[in-house]
Amino acid sequence: MIIVMQTGVTSEQIEEVTERLQRRGLGVHLSVGEFKTIIGAIGDEKVVREMGLEALPFVERVLPITQPFKLVSREFQPENSLFTVGDCLIGGDEIVLMAGPCAVESEEQLLEAAEGVKAAGAQILRGGAYKPRSSPYSFQGLEEAGLQILARVREKTGMPIVTEVMDQHTVEMVAEYTDIIQVGARNMQNFCMLRELGKLSKPILLKRGLCATMEEWLMAAEYIVSGGNRQVILCERGIRTFETYTRNTLDLSAVPVMKRLTHLPVIVDPSHGTGSWRWVPAMSRASVAAGADGVMIEVHPQPEQALCDGAQSLTVEKFAALVCDLDRLAVVMGRRLKKQVS
Ligand code: PEP
Ligand code: MN
Repeated sequence: MIIVMQTGVTSEQIEEVTERLQRRGLGVHLSVGEFKTIIGAIGDEKVVREMGLEALPFVERVLPITQPFKLVSREFQPENSLFTVGDCLIGGDEIVLMAGPCAVESEEQLLEAAEGVKAAGAQILRGGAYKPRSSPYSFQGLEEAGLQILARVREKTGMPIVTEVMDQHTVEMVAEYTDIIQVGARNMQNFCMLRELGKLSKPILLKRGLCATMEEWLMAAEYIVSGGNRQVILCERGIRTFETYTRNTLDLSAVPVMKRLTHLPVIVDPSHGTGSWRWVPAMSRASVAAGADGVMIEVHPQPEQALCDGAQSLTVEKFAALVCDLDRLAVVMGRRLKKQVS
């Protein structure tokens, strides 16, 4: 439920409502906007209804949240959620660039990729240590050794890292190494794992499932947020359609729709979204134009030698050229790319 306060409400009056809610065992989330203050009540709707808060002169309305997802909805929190990762603010005016290889293959490969994408303007380094491969015979990732390489490369470059966790038993271990935990498309509805991630206080990058509706995606985010972890970044990465000329169909309409439905940051992964490096620049530009808060792009120093997803990986040079385009485009969108300081 949300409690919409009258315009000009005082902090004592806000406190009064907050205390009443807390006394009834409800959680409270406060959104102070320019014109309106909204108090989100977390817990049993019936309890809030019974409290008769509308009788208070400084309460304008008490409303149920109409969407099936509650805490992640814009009704509950009208202002954008902002998270800090390293010195990056995600969800604000600056567009964040996450880049790096699909998989961590060796320290040399990751370091070369990291130095390249950092120099080109990326802020966050991606790299998978646990790889969800369609075939059990394909390279499965370096696992914990890959996490250690990621940690060492972070140390050397100062870049925060994002890497995937594939099952609930490794959540704790992966969380120890990484700055952002990625939930892959195939695990979007792994509810046991989502519950574990809800207990952490680390940003989660939640990819859209291959066949997930936007509502199912938001309900997956609700699992994490309702567990207590508010730091969820949504990532559109393409969905399955009848089309075969691209690996997936990148659903860019998800960006404006999600920005309207939820306060969570929304980024796009045009690499998995298209499956070919040729389409990545155009779809990255389109993502920024659609209002994405960031892009995640696969970059490999030698894509032709990549152990995973080489066909959709940009070279460092192509990535650098793309960043120049995104830099100009961000300005048109009233935003900007974060500049590297060193
Ligand atoms: C990845 O980011 O390397 C990956 C496997 O992505 P997805 O889960 O979107 O397929
Ligand atoms: Mn990949």
